[in-house]
Amino acid sequence: MTPLDQKTKRFIRNLKATRIISALLAVEQLLYGLFLVQPGAPVRVQYFLSAFLIAFLCFISFLISKPKKNISGLGYPFFEMLPLALGMVIALNRMFANKGIILNIPTLYLAFIYGGAVVFLFDYVQSGILYATFAIVSIVMLNSHALIASNVPFQIDFIVNNLIAWTISALNYRYYIQEQKNINLIEEQNQQLRMFSEHDALTGLLNRRKIDSIISEILQNKMGGVTITAVILFDLDRFKMVNDTYGHQRGDILLKEISKLVQDTLEEGESLARWGGEEFLILTQREGKALAELLRREIENKQFEQVGKVTASFGVSPVLPDDSEVKIFRQVDKALYRAKELGRNRVEVFTSS
Ligand code: GH3
Ligand code: MG
Ligand code: MG
Repeated sequence: MTPLDQKTKRFIRNLKATRIISALLAVEQLLYGLFLVQPGAPVRVQYFLSAFLIAFLCFISFLISKPKKNISGLGYPFFEMLPLALGMVIALNRMFANKGIILNIPTLYLAFIYGGAVVFLFDYVQSGILYATFAIVSIVMLNSHALIASNVPFQIDFIVNNLIAWTISALNYRYYIQEQKNINLIEEQNQQLRMFSEHDALTGLLNRRKIDSIISEILQNKMGGVTITAVILFDLDRFKMVNDTYGHQRGDILLKEISKLVQDTLEEGESLARWGGEEFLILTQREGKALAELLRREIENKQFEQVGKVTASFGVSPVLPDDSEVKIFRQVDKALYRAKELGRNRVEVFTSS
């Protein structure tokens, strides 16, 4: 099964939110109508009507089933906008019913909180700002009856709506944190994958694919002025014997030891890669032959535990402007071959002759 896209995930979340919040609000409006207004007051009908409309929306939300695959079409966003539209209708209706009192705050912000919050259009910062503003307005309005219809149970309305608003804001925040965690996890996994795809598992050096792409980028001048003057390929001498004598595992460790030894000698900007089994490739901006000779001596002079002395043969190819990768690799390969032929533990530089 393919993973669901952002839009579908949001719809599922909104569907759930619509169910829960419209159920709560329908009950709230019903309770207002039943207990908080005088029997016979016109506003009572409005509360009952609101309760009915919101309950109807809740009912619809249960009719719509959670999508199992990615959603498309206009029906879904239309449904998502429905709470907002409904909240607006209720608010406007109340505003006109309480004629003369334009700033009927509870009903207006009921529309926004109910609609906007259920739709979850806001991210956590937006919802935080929105609900904080409502909270402050509420606190101010609690002490001022001036602009509120006397028959509206505004104090309780304020408090309940604020509670709902902050609950929604907290939920939004929780979703936000969860999403951030998921994003971080994906980023971490991506980094790991990149690491695996560019590095050799045994030595941790760059692998052949990566060094290949580095060279081609350098040759195409895509590395922002980074240039190289030589490519060095070296191969451990009689390595098969190490495996045969001390075991494959000791051979593995030796490959790591050599990698470290060479890596420690290289300077910033120089690259070392494991080219194949016991073959390594170096890109350098130093004089190729001198560096190869330095490394050859370093390996030769080191005493490896259990194995003792180890040597390597080096091929060097100069890198000239307009050289192709194919040409460089052929040249360095030839030079290494000659180093082996001429007795190993030596450096050969490619010459055309
Ligand atoms: P030469 O001086 O001609 O290079 O001789 P050599 O024995 O080094 O060359 P050959 O190509 O005959 O053998 C290379 C050996 O390297 C054979 C293979 O088992 C070993 N090898 C390749 N990859 C690994 C590895 O990852 N770990 C270990 N332990 N051995 C490896
Ligand atoms: Mg070898
Ligand atoms: Mg080899």
